[in-house]
Amino acid sequence: MSLYVLKFGGSSIATLQRISNVANIITDLKKRGNNIIVVTSAMQGITDKLLNYTKQFVVNSYENSYYRECDAVVSCGESIAAGILSLALQSEGIMAKSFNSWQIPIEASTNYSNATITNVNTKLLFDAISDNIIPVITGFQGLTKNNDIVTLGRGGSDATACALAYYTNADECYIYTDVSGVFTADPRVVTNAKLLKYVSYDEMIELAKYGAKVLQYKSVLLAKHYNVKVRVLSSFLNDDCSSLVTIKTNYINNKNIAGIAHSNDYVLLRTKININNIISKYETININNFNYLVKKSIVNNIANLLQENTYTMDNDIGTITIVGSNLNSIIDELTQLLINNNISIKYININKLSITYIVHVLHTEAALNILHKHIYN
Ligand code: ASP
Ligand code: MG
Repeated sequence: MSLYVLKFGGSSIATLQRISNVANIITDLKKRGNNIIVVTSAMQGITDKLLNYTKQFVVNSYENSYYRECDAVVSCGESIAAGILSLALQSEGIMAKSFNSWQIPIEASTNYSNATITNVNTKLLFDAISDNIIPVITGFQGLTKNNDIVTLGRGGSDATACALAYYTNADECYIYTDVSGVFTADPRVVTNAKLLKYVSYDEMIELAKYGAKVLQYKSVLLAKHYNVKVRVLSSFLNDDCSSLVTIKTNYINNKNIAGIAHSNDYVLLRTKININNIISKYETININNFNYLVKKSIVNNIANLLQENTYTMDNDIGTITIVGSNLNSIIDELTQLLINNNISIKYININKLSITYIVHVLHTEAALNILHKHIYN
């Protein structure tokens, strides 16, 4: 018998109708003789709503006492979803039982709002499975050694799913979302983006780091570390399509490029001094020791840590990141293409597996489409 961890994202369970659809997917896999563990995120929009509530009462947003309560609040969306999904399964005649992370427990580090899973006790999971009950686990939450609830960073239920797949030695971890897998670019922005049947861990890490929203960055690091096979697929379309994130890669072009990520969520922070040790606990991208990409959502926290006149912030930027191998051979061609199309490039950064173009925010989507067409058509 195979064991699968199935994770459902917020859009897959956005309404009661969608929850019922998800219950059908789970029932179907169960009836085909598989053992199943379900991980759920919160219904779409709930986490943002809860986060907004906490922002009404900020005294000092740099204190742990603030973040502790934030996590206590924002982790609740998953608890509601796990209970409702279990009820939906029961209504299909399937035995199911919800568990919060503290009940399992899923142990995690103490950094509020961005914690990392450190251990999972699998006893209750296997007890449920052997009683023919599907355990439905809250994603995104962890329990610290002081018995506090912490959350695993936005999109963190992906990390819960990967960790559970590792600790239970599951055959695969299925991440259900609203698209059929990982695409060569965001299919909402690039209409003829192509599905990738396989993506290597390293390339997926790079895509997720630079804005591909389909998997949380930290979850792919975890999957790579523990060699968890992650399959991304749609809960909306019954199209038999999926992407497998594993050691294997496949390039569907002759330029050794896996895919292109983009983001308008960053600010470019330029500093006169090296600030690595000041900002290391925040999720930022260190371009080099004097240029950083900082998420708009945390930019005020970081600005408060820096001395006046030691930095500048450029808010009007977008990033396009081409991920693949042997990129030195193609960078001049791609840069010239953008220049010929009047894209204003502010900065170019090249790494082993990626080239990032930082452009004016109004040019992001145009630049992405120009590059995608050139590479994949
Ligand atoms: N509900 C959380 C979020 O919105 C975690 C997740 O969706 O994975 O970030
Ligand atoms: Mg997600």
